[in-house]
Formats: sequence, C-alpha cells, structure tokens
Amino acid sequence: TTATGRATLLPSVRAFLSSPERLLIGADRVDAADGRTFTTVDPSTEEVLAEVAQASAADVDRAVTAARTAYEAPSPWSRMSPRERSHLLWRIGDLIEAHADELAQLEALDNGKRVEAAKTGDVATAAELFRYFAGWATKIEGTTIPMSVPGRSFHAYTRREPIGVVAAIVPWNFPLLMACFKIVPALTAGNTVILKPAEQTPLTALRLGELLLEAGVPAGVVNVLPGYGDTGAALVEHPGVDKVAFTGSTEVGKKIAAVASGNLKKVSLELGGKAPNIVFADADLDAAVAGAVLGGYFNEGQCCVNGSRLYVQRAVFDEVVEGVAAAAAAIRVGDGFDPSSDMGPLVSPEQHHKVLSYLRGAVAEGAVLCAGSAEPARDRGYFVTPTLLTSVTEQMAVQTDEIFGPVVTAVAFDTEDEVVTAANNTVYGLAAGVWSRDIGTAHRVGSRLRAGTVWLNTWHADDVTLPRGGFKQSGWGRELGSFGLEDYTELKTVIAELR
Ligand code: NAD
Repeated sequence: TTATGRATLLPSVRAFLSSPERLLIGADRVDAADGRTFTTVDPSTEEVLAEVAQASAADVDRAVTAARTAYEAPSPWSRMSPRERSHLLWRIGDLIEAHADELAQLEALDNGKRVEAAKTGDVATAAELFRYFAGWATKIEGTTIPMSVPGRSFHAYTRREPIGVVAAIVPWNFPLLMACFKIVPALTAGNTVILKPAEQTPLTALRLGELLLEAGVPAGVVNVLPGYGDTGAALVEHPGVDKVAFTGSTEVGKKIAAVASGNLKKVSLELGGKAPNIVFADADLDAAVAGAVLGGYFNEGQCCVNGSRLYVQRAVFDEVVEGVAAAAAAIRVGDGFDPSSDMGPLVSPEQHHKVLSYLRGAVAEGAVLCAGSAEPARDRGYFVTPTLLTSVTEQMAVQTDEIFGPVVTAVAFDTEDEVVTAANNTVYGLAAGVWSRDIGTAHRVGSRLRAGTVWLNTWHADDVTLPRGGFKQSGWGRELGSFGLEDYTELKTVIAELR
C-alpha cells in the first residue's frame, strides 16, 4: 500500500494532505518568509506525505508579534471572561471529538502509530484535556492572607495572572497530545501560544490550529510554526516570548535551560526517562507480566514513562521473563492502518537506526535477546520487533540510556535495598513501578523511588487530573491537574493599607 493509497483514508485527510501545509500566524496560513519547506514522511511506507513550510527566525518574529498583539489589552482575548474561555475550551473538546477519525488518521500517517491507538488514546485524551481545563478557567483563584503589622491595618491577597506569550515546543511521540498538554493550560490561564511541533510530525498540529480558529479562538492566540530545532531555538532566544514549555530530550532541555539562564524567561521541562519496573516474588505475576508488556512496548516503546528496566526478584525471574518474552513474540508488527497490527513502525529512519544500534551493541557486549531481533522487522518502513534482553549489566548503554524504542531489559535482584539502589541509579526520575501483593512493600518501595510518577500494581494508568513530571534530570515543573495550571500563571501579591 502507498501512503495515500490506503483504502480507508478519509476524504478529509486526503484533502488536508493535498493542500499546502503552511505556517499559521494570526488568522493566516502563510508560507515561510524565506520560502523554505521540509518533507514529512510516512514511517510505514517511507513515502513523502507532505511538503511543510519551515519557519525561520523571521517567522518567529512575525508569530511573536501576532501572539503579543493577541495577548495585550484591549484584544478580544484579553477581554474574554473566564466563563467565555471555559465555554470556548469545551467547544474545542467537542470539535476534536467530531474530527476524531480524521485526526487519528493524520497522526497514524505521520507518526506510524496504530489508527485505533491514536483515536482512543491521543485524540480522546486531547478532547478530554480541553473539557477538564474548561472547568478550571472559572476557578483560577487567589487567597487572602492576614498581615500582622502592629498598629496598622492591611488587606493582602494574591492573584494568578497569565504569563504572556508561551512557546510550546513538543516531540513526535504523541504529537497532538503533547501540543494539547501545553496549549490547553496556557489558554485556560489566558496566555497566547506559539506551537513548534516536531519536524517528524507537524501535521496534526497544523490541523489543530485550523480547528482552534474554527471553534472561535481569536486570531493570534495560537500560532503554529513547523520547523527543526533552530526554529525552537529562535523561540527560546526571542525576547518577546515569556515562557517556554518544552517536552523532549534531556539533551535539548539542557540547551534550553542554558539559553534561558541568559534571558530568564520561565521554563518548564518534561524530559527523558528510563523507568524501573520492579516485580517482587509475591506479586500477582499474570498482572505483572501484562504490566511489563504494556509498560515496555506501549507506543512502539516511544514513551517517556515506559518501564524499560524490568527488575524481577530471583525466585520468579525465569517465570516473568518467559511470560514477557512470549507476549512480546505474539505482538504483530505492521502498518498502523492494518487492523491486525498490534504495533506500528518507529517514527523515523534515525530512530530506527538508533534502536537497532543499541540492540546490536548490547548483544556484542554479551546481552541475550529473549524476544525480538536486532535486525529490521521489514524491508520497508521503520519497523522493529519488540525485544527483551537478559544478561544485562548496569553499565551497558542499553541499561543506562533512554532508547525510546521497544526494548526492555530484565535484571534479577535479591533484596529490596539492592533493587532500590539499582532502580535509582540513573540521571532520570520520570516514572517507576512496583508489583507486590504486600501493601507495605508496595508503598514503602514506592516512597523510596526517586520518580515523578510511581505506579503500584499497574502501569500507564493515568488521568488528565493528575500532575506528571520529572525528578532529577527528567525535568522542571509539573503538567496537568491543578499543579500544571499554576505553571502557566504568575502569582501576584497585592497589599492595600486600610487607612
Ligand atoms: P528532541 O529533544 O530532539 O526534540 C523535541 C523538540 O525540540 C522538537 O520539536 C525539536 O525540533 C525541538 N528542538 C530541537 N533542538 C532544539 C533547540 N536547540 N532548541 C529548541 N528546540 C529544539 O526530542 P525528540 O527526539 O523529538 O523526542 C524524544 C524525547 O522526548 C525523549 O527523550 C522523551 O523522553 C522525551 N519525552 C518526554 C516526555 C515527558 O513528558 N517527559 C514526553 C514525551 C517525550
């Protein structure tokens, strides 16, 4: 099948792909100032899906002006009441749901993931995010705080105000959803946004920009600038951007923090992970095996909170490894549009090469592949089979580095202290998990793990109400829930003397 030759492709998706993919600045879809474009590719077929306008620093200037104008009073956005913003956010949720099939197909084409996974996961959660935050728009409250200055009388209170222009820079693994993780709380708090999608997956961001305008978001409140890292860097450097909200690699996160140390704009960072998944011998082993499979291979392994390091207590090590290996071997790898596929391709040739290189390196160092292969799964497309490695040491690159592919390592442990030390022996601290029927063990070990999210007897259980983010080098700040909203506000203290 060719990219657009798929029989089930919706007419709306065909129409979107056949029109020029331009930048969104203000209410206008425009070419890049220097006319440059880049291509985005279907990871299943390796065919070009679209030519996309590539934003340069000049376009960043234009978008900042549009976002600033849309933000400053007396713009329509600045005059919109919280209730109106709330209704608008809810409407966008409905519109996303109405376009769920279209958005899911676009996401599957651009990223490679299964259409069904995109629809029930990425798109459905994006719609829910708008609805959840629609409720918050009318509940951004301050507090009154008593002051005690002898002999004088005061009324002091706090206000939560928007920060201003927010640059949202996002990765390719959940393109629409990661964009919404940032756009939604930013809009809820009254900011304006410039979205920079990942170069591998710009399509749903562009379609979302159109839907936002259709829903009634005023021009310039959300602008979309596809491009590479230099487009993101221009946003981070721009004096007209007040906050950078970034999800991506720890390496790029450090670069952003370094640039922001010069201009001191607000920065929130959601970075990499290498989550330990700890199975004690007293666990419900069927559930633990299923959790290890979901935690290891979800989203083709391209998920920052995946449980890529499996630690299993020695008495049940063989049983768990056999269970995970059998389940991994049963996963059918194929085109994301084929309903019989359980797992699609990786996103790009770079990612394909990187994952296979890690696997070959590990095998050369003595690791054993219990499931999957270090060879491409198909001649065409960026397919990798789900893999499980044993005979792994803590020093191997496959054990220390975030690989971002369907690669799980299994290591045996004896004692709780030993496994906690090993689990925490990483620069990352995004997620971790514990499987045990003993509630004391589960909660105690959970509290000892240095990670922003800890799952006990489950994996990937999640909700838009819950804050998420990283300890250590996995990031700064938290996203979602009420904590995530605070990151898009400035806290102002007002002190009035009652004379
Ligand atoms: P990446 O860091 O290479 O790119 C992310 C985004 O940053 C892209 O849009 C890219 O164009 C842009 N970028 C690149 N260089 C830049 C620069 N110098 N300045 C500004 N922007 C720049 O990451 P990736 O490979 O696209 O995504 C995978 C990474 O994302 C993984 O490390 C993964 O763990 C992480 N991730 C984290 C979370 C989380 O919630 N913590 C979620 C998803 C992905």
